[in-house]
Amino acid sequence: MTIESTEAIPLAGAQRELERQLEERLAALQEIEPFALPSIDPVAYQTAASHRVTIEQITAALNRINQGTYGRCTRCGRQIAPARLEVLPYAAACIECQSHAEAA
Ligand SMILES: [Zn+2]
Repeated sequence: MTIESTEAIPLAGAQRELERQLEERLAALQEIEPFALPSIDPVAYQTAASHRVTIEQITAALNRINQGTYGRCTRCGRQIAPARLEVLPYAAACIECQSHAEAA
């Protein structure tokens, strides 16, 4: 694809990355779901729960791309640092808001 090299819009890259991660998580979840029960495999149960949370966050991020609000903090509305989005493309809050949320 020739578009690939000239494509500098981070949004398209973010969407691709999110879709890739979503697929990965869904596949991983599907694999462990049959025995991911606290009584059968508590570790798998925990892992499945964290997959579900991440899947939800990725889906929300993809929705924000569609709505044109991706990259903006869902709490304070400020721009999320691109470096943060690179590490965590489904980040919903900026680092300041996130640290407040984690401390609370
Ligand atoms: Zn914020």
